[in-house]
Amino acid sequence: MLGTGWGAARVCRDLRVGGGGFGLDVVSPRNHMVFTPLLPQSVTGTLDPHAVTVPIREVQPRLRDPSNHYYTASALEVRPEERRVLCQGTAEGVGWSSTSCRGGNKFWLEYDRLVIATGAAGATFGVPGVENHAHFLRDMRDGQAIRRRLLQNIEASTLPTLTQEERRRLLSVVIVGGGPTGVELAGELVDFAVQDVKRLCLEASSLFSVTLVEAQQLVGGFDESLRRYVERSLMQSHVGVLKGVVKEVRENCVLLTDGSEVPYGTLVWSTGVGPTPFISGLPCEKHRGRLAVDGHLNVRGSPSKGKDGLEVPGEVYNDVFAIGDCAVDPNCAQGPLPPLAQVAEQQGAYVAARLNASSGSHYNAKGREFVYKHLGSMASMGSVGSVASLGGLKASESHWNLRGLTAWFMWRSAYVTRLGAWRNRLSAALNWCTASLFGRNLSRW
Ligand code: FAD
Ligand code: MG
Repeated sequence: MLGTGWGAARVCRDLRVGGGGFGLDVVSPRNHMVFTPLLPQSVTGTLDPHAVTVPIREVQPRLRDPSNHYYTASALEVRPEERRVLCQGTAEGVGWSSTSCRGGNKFWLEYDRLVIATGAAGATFGVPGVENHAHFLRDMRDGQAIRRRLLQNIEASTLPTLTQEERRRLLSVVIVGGGPTGVELAGELVDFAVQDVKRLCLEASSLFSVTLVEAQQLVGGFDESLRRYVERSLMQSHVGVLKGVVKEVRENCVLLTDGSEVPYGTLVWSTGVGPTPFISGLPCEKHRGRLAVDGHLNVRGSPSKGKDGLEVPGEVYNDVFAIGDCAVDPNCAQGPLPPLAQVAEQQGAYVAARLNASSGSHYNAKGREFVYKHLGSMASMGSVGSVASLGGLKASESHWNLRGLTAWFMWRSAYVTRLGAWRNRLSAALNWCTASLFGRNLSRW
């Protein structure tokens, strides 16, 4: 199993491990699954990081057995013909060197079945400076890095040496990308500013600002009425909404194509996802950078040139699956599925069920194809407003649109009931209570 995200965690949970079932090796640089929809709330400290992460060994307790393993490592290379994966240990600061480790810290793992669920990376669209200056929001480390930056800037803004303009810059948060994640983070930050910064530091709160930069529409996937509602709610809460395209990111400001400069103290880049170098390097067929899978979520070798110069499709690897953000079925009857937790999780359940059903002579029995069931889309901007759209995936299918308090309530209950473990559900519920009773904690370390 490569990865410990949404897709991988579901496979690990559902797979029959040990006791005559499978032996399981999990490879991922992080030893936990992150409940991504709640990540924006961990940035402001509404939720504790522990409420939003689940150790993979708790997801699959059999990983404690000596015959199964979780390895803190990244997969570097897959050789489907030889059924093995090259991995590299990823622990930091432990004083490893190429001489102290056998094989320079790299090792091969052999497999009978392989599931690739290594997710995607934040897309930069080649805009210079993004990698160096912007924060992505993909996992808990990112969330905590943004939080540290935010709190540091709030404290630094009160130093007597600063000009008013410099204070204003430090306290301005710019979010590039107006998808659900961007607007949710903007809403969270408004709540954070109004409810907590104001309570604890009037000086900083009067200069604090949040700006969203989006080239097209905010929350493009939602119906027109909900999009307008989101835009209106954000503007009423004094979130700056800038229509523009970013040309370059500098250390202290963002440059737009129309020539304007937007200064920032904290910059979050949230403009969708692209392929990771690991996926790009795999010897498999791709579709727009993602692994092209068939209806059974199996990958295929790279196409080759036949004798007549025509392209010959690669062989289907029935023992290699790819799920979640790193994969896409270009011929899916429902259209190429979007990079969503729901998709990854349902694909994980499908793959686990297929693996559990396959044994001995049924090794390659394929059974039914994967069918995705869209449960709806939601975005919560805290007290700024919430939207939910229940129903089909396509705009043409019928929807049940909700907004405001009902959508907010739905959002919270949906996510708290979906949180994997009881510990997480209780922690999240408790965090929400303490945050609303006593406010968020602004301690910085
Ligand atoms: P991920 O969950 O990203 O997991 C990838 C895993 O692979 C990670 O454990 C990573 O460490 C590991 N990995 C990476 N490279 C390697 C390697 N080379 N070798 C081994 N392991 C590797 N979706 C929704 O449906 N609803 C939402 O509300 C929603 N909100 C979101 C909010 C945020 C802030 C973000 C970032 C995403 C959100 N998403 C949401 C999208 C959702 O999180 C993704 O679609 C989902 O995580 C995809 O699951 P995955 O298993 O493919 O990859
Ligand atoms: Mg995963």
